[in-house]
Amino acid sequence: MTHDVAVSKAAEIARRVLAPSAGQNDKAGRFSTEAVKSLGEAGLLGLMLPTDSGGSGLGPRTFAAVVAAFAEADASVAMVYVMHVMGAASIAAARPSVAPALTPMLQEISAGRHLSTLAFSEAGSRSHFWAPLSRARRNGDGVQISAKKSWVTSAGYAQSYVVSALAPEGAGPTDSTLYLLAAGTRGLSVAGAWDGLGLRANASAPIALDDCEVPSHFQLTDDGAGFPAMMNVVLPLFNLGSASVSLGLCRAAVVGTASHLKTAKFEHLGQSLGESLPTLRAQLATMQIDTDGLAARIDDLIDHLEKPRETTMLRVLESKAAAGDVAISVSSAAMRVCGGAAFSKHLGIERLFRDAHAGAVMAPTGDVLREFIGKLLLGMPLF
Ligand SMILES: Cc1cc2nc3c(=O)[nH]c(=O)nc-3n(C[C@H](O)[C@H](O)[C@H](O)COP(=O)(O)OP(=O)(O)OC[C@H]3O[C@@H](n4cnc5c(N)ncnc54)[C@H](O)[C@@H]3O)c2cc1C
Repeated sequence: MTHDVAVSKAAEIARRVLAPSAGQNDKAGRFSTEAVKSLGEAGLLGLMLPTDSGGSGLGPRTFAAVVAAFAEADASVAMVYVMHVMGAASIAAARPSVAPALTPMLQEISAGRHLSTLAFSEAGSRSHFWAPLSRARRNGDGVQISAKKSWVTSAGYAQSYVVSALAPEGAGPTDSTLYLLAAGTRGLSVAGAWDGLGLRANASAPIALDDCEVPSHFQLTDDGAGFPAMMNVVLPLFNLGSASVSLGLCRAAVVGTASHLKTAKFEHLGQSLGESLPTLRAQLATMQIDTDGLAARIDDLIDHLEKPRETTMLRVLESKAAAGDVAISVSSAAMRVCGGAAFSKHLGIERLFRDAHAGAVMAPTGDVLREFIGKLLLGMPLF
């Protein structure tokens, strides 16, 4: 698959499968299994996996464009996809000694039959996902894990979960290891419902791990090497994916607002809202400027990921922090410009507004990113 083919498949699925049911799924808090099926059939679940395991071997540029296309239609599905790509990337980056045992799973992902996700955040350490409280215990060649994972996108729908836990002999709070748990692992259960303000259709429910046994070939990183995997494999791609969800939301807000300004009428004046009020046109223009600014920022991040350099980590941190704020600001402007029609949920704009707020609270949160950026600029250690 080429970049262009992947992006056009994503746009087609967004139009045919995501857009028609996004509103209903949001209202009902319903996870779209048919969306995941379509992504699998289109070969998009293996987008970034190596070609020798059946994947398309495509890079961050394609990933970002595909995610933005999904988010423009349905940000819940876009975030399901982002978390899946993170899970798949973590499995593909597994230590060499377990790679052969994981090949069949990568092939299943590439064949579109396997959805993965990350289960990092814990009830105790909250948004500080890099510091799990759970600790793996030795169990023969493998380990046993008990943990309270507080938010897991696609909980109950994914076929596998990439789970963090402190290494059995880990001495510090970031001495974690990443493990792979199949959905059917004994002791793994969905521990609550998901009824969020936004991203309501992505099943980000808690999961409980009770004495789950993990064989050694499902230990993805060396003991204590979970933290570098989180920072090097997951963080750059996740921040890009999250920023791309924000971009899709902003584009949808601009399109939805422009459409309302063209179609809603002041009948007593014989004009549309957009024709009648320069202040609404100016606010729409600001939304467009901010959206294109975010697109340019994402392009710059992609360039930094394709050609890593000294400023790459800074761009990784900045992009998600900025994108979360832009999405909130653009969708807030859309709410105001579209007035009562948006407030009374006639336009779908309020779904964008609610979904846009997830970017800033998903870890690393906008505040944590600012903390990291400040420390980086001052030459202070981040952890
Ligand atoms: C829709 C959704 C999907 C999610 N999916 C997943 C998933 O698939 N996998 C997963 O592992 N997790 C997932 N999460 C969890 C997410 O990544 C965060 O861990 C979670 O949102 C943190 O919420 P909290 O209230 O516990 O944060 P808290 O840590 O309690 O933060 C509260 C406030 O304090 C601020 N804060 C915290 N630490 C600092 C700091 N050092 N400096 C400055 N400010 C700080 C935060 O920015 C926030 O404003 C998801 C969350 C959401 C909302």
